[in-house]
Amino acid sequence: MNWLLPRFVLAVLAVLLGAAIGIWIEHWLKLSMLSELLSASCAVAALVLVDAIRGHRLLQWLRGSQLDTAPRDSGLWGELAYRIERAVRDRDKTIARERTQLDQFLSAIEASPNGVMMLDEQDQIHWCNRVAADHFSLDPQRDLRQRVTNLVRSPAFVAYMQAGQFEKALILNNVRGLGTLSVVVRRYGEGMTLVLSQDITERERADAMRRDFVANVSHEIRTPLTVLSGFIETMSSLPLTDTERRRVLTLMGQQTQRMQGLVSDLLTLAQLEGSPRPAPDRWVALDGLLARINSDALALSAGRHQIDVQLDTHIELAGVESELLSAAANLVTNAVRYTPEGGDVDVSWRLLSDGSGELSVIDTGPGIPREHLPRLTERFYRVDGSRSRETGGTGLGLSIVKHVLQRHGGELQISSEPGKGSKFKLVFPAVRVRLMGETPLGVESAMSSSLPN
Ligand code: ADP
Repeated sequence: MNWLLPRFVLAVLAVLLGAAIGIWIEHWLKLSMLSELLSASCAVAALVLVDAIRGHRLLQWLRGSQLDTAPRDSGLWGELAYRIERAVRDRDKTIARERTQLDQFLSAIEASPNGVMMLDEQDQIHWCNRVAADHFSLDPQRDLRQRVTNLVRSPAFVAYMQAGQFEKALILNNVRGLGTLSVVVRRYGEGMTLVLSQDITERERADAMRRDFVANVSHEIRTPLTVLSGFIETMSSLPLTDTERRRVLTLMGQQTQRMQGLVSDLLTLAQLEGSPRPAPDRWVALDGLLARINSDALALSAGRHQIDVQLDTHIELAGVESELLSAAANLVTNAVRYTPEGGDVDVSWRLLSDGSGELSVIDTGPGIPREHLPRLTERFYRVDGSRSRETGGTGLGLSIVKHVLQRHGGELQISSEPGKGSKFKLVFPAVRVRLMGETPLGVESAMSSSLPN
């Protein structure tokens, strides 16, 4: 109220000044009392005029954008302007803070890997992030205020939205001809609806693969079991000669071995998937591995093939010995198993200029048609099922090889042509290859590139 006293004093002064002028006029011009009254009124009117001008200035500022400072007057108008300006500035700050929070919130939702869409009471799109727009083929700007069921025309989605039963997620298959979406809808606020969408194509694919895998394993195990139970029944119900009994026992032994091979390969795969990546500083002599592979191949071939394994590579590979042996042995065993009698199997090492290296297994077998090549490393994938089973294959060998190589940072390369044999290459990265006792080339180049010039 510190403006009240000066204002009162000013009003009294204005009246006194007006009266003094009135007395002066009366004295000199000999006019009546009226002139004093008139002068006092003029003084008050002047005061009101000043007030009107100041009030007008403040109103003008309020009507404008309020970006400049409010009129700096003294007294009542000054304090009024100051307080209004402070309230306006506080309001602006609160709005700016809330806008920043909203922006941050929206950009967090925008960054979400899932789709988020908000619908109003009429199921019109109020806001949606880019992922939701992508999932439902929407335009986040153009399609605002449009009814969602007019834009997302999938009959399952329309029926789901119309039914309003949102306890269970909706699974939309073949969305945009691509994959599978899981859609969850929740009501919130006053009649608002939140639509959350998630691309579950990969998850569905993994589930399907797991289901296929279990079905395949069951099938692979059931077949030898059926054969075995048949033989057991035969042996227990029929009187067999010694020769027949020996034959049946041999066949039973083969089926048992087949099951053992399958279980052992399954365990190897499970182990590969469950264990950490091999350390890059445990060195294994390649020549030792090749010597073992050579003798196994010779035993398996039993003189039916010309087998040539390079045994003097003087190379060491960084990794797990049992895994490296298993990968190379699988390739050589396949080469021997699938190459007809009289064919060649060559195993050789090549060190490349960038320090990486490759172990090649080349055979002169039947070769593999091009269309099968990309699928060879799938579990239980066989080009010729009966040939594979005949020779004791489980259908898991190349899958194991691929896993081992991936874990060692390398890759399995396959090239083959029907009638011209096959070439399987295990490619190892430079950091996992070295000449006996020397530093791997990959490590040297990595070190020299990190040294200052
Ligand atoms: P399998 O136990 O059946 O040999 P793999 O995973 O080792 O399973 O091989 C998958 C398929 O690839 C085999 O069934 C076979 O048809 C084909 N294959 C693998 N190696 C060779 C090869 N050296 N020559 C011809 N076909 C091969």
